[in-house]
Amino acid sequence: MPKVQILCGKNSGLPFDCLMTDIMSGCLSVDKICYGNCTAAEYWIKQGYDFGKKTLNAFNETNFRKSIQKLPPNQKWLRQGWMSDCSFTNESWNLTALISDILNEYGISLLIITKAYTMPSKKTLKTLAKNNAEIRTSVSAFDLPKEIDKRLRLLEDYRQYDGTSVPYVMTARYAVNDLVVNQNRIAEYVVNNDYIAGEHPLRFDNNNKILSVLLPDGFQHPKFNNQYWFGRVLYNIPNFILPAPTHLSENYTLRFKRFSDLKDGIKIEGIQGNLPTFEQLTQNTQQYSEGLFKHATYIIQKT
Ligand code: SF4
Repeated sequence: MPKVQILCGKNSGLPFDCLMTDIMSGCLSVDKICYGNCTAAEYWIKQGYDFGKKTLNAFNETNFRKSIQKLPPNQKWLRQGWMSDCSFTNESWNLTALISDILNEYGISLLIITKAYTMPSKKTLKTLAKNNAEIRTSVSAFDLPKEIDKRLRLLEDYRQYDGTSVPYVMTARYAVNDLVVNQNRIAEYVVNNDYIAGEHPLRFDNNNKILSVLLPDGFQHPKFNNQYWFGRVLYNIPNFILPAPTHLSENYTLRFKRFSDLKDGIKIEGIQGNLPTFEQLTQNTQQYSEGLFKHATYIIQKT
């Protein structure tokens, strides 16, 4: 995979101002990509690269600071983890922590989306917590029990350092009992442990073998016409309040650590709608939210 320079925002060639270059290029090998469907893998494979051959991207502090200075002044968060994952090595975690220190000087925090392939050190967790980084770990009914345990353990460990921990549940409607049970257990865990959580409805290519374990009452996605999905299915559980990052405005910051902190009608700043629910799609299959079309289309940064 090509080594690219770690920068942030549209003026530095990223598709959106809320994005920074991933700490690493590349992720899982083609036979292991998530749910048999990964837009980032597809993009790189089409360019002739081996997506599984990960590389740590190039970091130059002076250039990175220049790119921060070119961000719109109101951009208060940056997403890390949109074409890769920063959790593959100690080195990648340490660089993430260092970057969070620099961003903190400018009042910007990281929103890290990870599958916790390796666990960060205590020092990294403390640094990230001090710099108000939100860690969202992706979990789904398809994950192995040991993978789910590890991802939830990262959230619990991070919370101990007063970090902002968010379970980010990848969902679908399943035709197979084991998967139904797994998804329900994850949702119960979220509620029982007082987490503020996010839901991300999975999308599957029409020829993905996984379709055989899904219910047949889903829909074709309004933007990706060759993909099958159900919209949000956990919308009746109040903890699942956070949308995908495409529905967060530039001033988003999650200052609350627990769902019970949101009592008395306290609102989280910077949430701009959410993806449609299964119920809404049942009434109108083309129901969409504005953010749905803002989805990062995995355009490589131009620098
Ligand atoms: S972790 Fe993300 S980038 Fe890596 S294979 Fe899975 S979906 Fe693709």
